[in-house]
Amino acid sequence: MAGDRPNVLIIGGGFAGVFAARRLKRANVSVTLLDRGTSHVFQPLLYQCATGLLSEGDIASPLRHLLRRCRNLRVFLGEASDIDVAAKTVTARRFDGSTFDIDYDYLILAAGARQSYHGNEQFEQFAPGMKTVDDALAIRRKIISSFEIAETLPTPALRKPWLTFVISGGGPTGVEIAGQIRELAIRALSKEFDSMDPAEAQVILVHGGERVLESFHPSLSGKAQKTLDKLGVTTVLGRHVTDVQRDHVITTDKKTKATEQIDTHTVLWTAGVEAVPFAGAVAEATGVTPARGGTIPVGPDLRVAGHENIFVVGDVMSLDKLPGVAEVAMQSGHHAAVLISRVVDGKAKADSPFKYRDLGTAAYISRYHALLESGPLRLSGFLGWLGWGGIHIFFLAGSRNRVWTLASWASTIIGGSRGERAITYGDPETARRPYP
Ligand SMILES: Cc1cc2nc3c(=O)[nH]c(=O)nc-3n(C[C@H](O)[C@H](O)[C@H](O)COP(=O)(O)OP(=O)(O)OC[C@H]3O[C@@H](n4cnc5c(N)ncnc54)[C@H](O)[C@@H]3O)c2cc1C
Repeated sequence: MAGDRPNVLIIGGGFAGVFAARRLKRANVSVTLLDRGTSHVFQPLLYQCATGLLSEGDIASPLRHLLRRCRNLRVFLGEASDIDVAAKTVTARRFDGSTFDIDYDYLILAAGARQSYHGNEQFEQFAPGMKTVDDALAIRRKIISSFEIAETLPTPALRKPWLTFVISGGGPTGVEIAGQIRELAIRALSKEFDSMDPAEAQVILVHGGERVLESFHPSLSGKAQKTLDKLGVTTVLGRHVTDVQRDHVITTDKKTKATEQIDTHTVLWTAGVEAVPFAGAVAEATGVTPARGGTIPVGPDLRVAGHENIFVVGDVMSLDKLPGVAEVAMQSGHHAAVLISRVVDGKAKADSPFKYRDLGTAAYISRYHALLESGPLRLSGFLGWLGWGGIHIFFLAGSRNRVWTLASWASTIIGGSRGERAITYGDPETARRPYP
């Protein structure tokens, strides 16, 4: 890389970071992409990894390989921990705990979001969220070992808490994982257990709102509800999960405040996200007040006020109530890169406002049932499922992953089983066990 070209530092190799990096391939800059993981993770399919349909390799593409054609780019593994905006330096932690500094002329913060427990961080030890490959594998460990433990127990009463799965949050991720656990139980596992019937599994979806999938048109969310009912998912509306313990959860009615205990060993948390912790360091250093969930407010051109060289994109950015979805991340990452290219080339319109083009949203409910909404177009059932599949394959990074994902889907549809059910006992250093 040429040493006299402006340095662009991108923090985060998710949708926003990768789209920015790809656009900067043609720019006269040197790019460093810093990520705390080695791969670009396709988060929309994490739940399929968690339920044994896909492997972690199918949904995670090595950043070095993905961006190998960007000749002006280097990739660093490390977690950004501090920033000095006067010196234009970001400090990052290496895997071994030591730190190093990276200088930048332009910064694109694309570090995304993490699961939010809304001030109840103590829930996390019993109720993993779904944001990383680690989360998906931890959830898989919990789900698969619950069925295995149930197989060794002699009575339905003893098995019940192991075969009760509570999901907090009725947005797309909650609905998708709820449907997948039931499908796993009634299709993939149904003929493989001897002492009990996996269909005994009860999946309870707890949602504070009046209907699931509130980001979709009511007619579509009604259809999704019917499909969930048919699949055997129990939906509890108007209640929040207000306590999570090792062997039970408490739900509370939003209006009456009446509480109810559900005995379970598996609680999954999908109710809300917040900006990653490094966003706090950036907000403090730039003097901006964080917006909802710790996200960083930006101007229409995605720059932080008073800091012409700092752009914030994707889930960590706050702009006009744009949703935290992949499309916003991709388009905003691309836009920031376009503006940096224009500044470097001395071109006009280096502060053009970001205009989001909403291409629509999709959510998977169960086999042959998905929702797809794009402007006036509303698809559900089989057509929605075809549209959902097409979009996910199109945006999945890497042709190898596309082929393997299609093959895994086809094999599950034809054979019924799921091949990715291996569980590990976690990193011995941190002693993560299936049940804390
Ligand atoms: C389970 C799930 C399902 C979803 N389904 C859909 C869907 O169907 N459709 C849709 O449009 N959207 C969906 N989303 C949302 C979508 O995935 C996000 O909006 C999108 O990933 C945001 O992209 P991003 O680049 O801003 O952040 P991310 O994709 O989260 O990437 C952020 C990157 O930053 C890295 N990072 C974080 N902190 C640091 C640090 N301090 N230092 C270095 N690196 C760091 C992370 O490792 C990560 O690689 C889903 C999300 C989840 C979790």
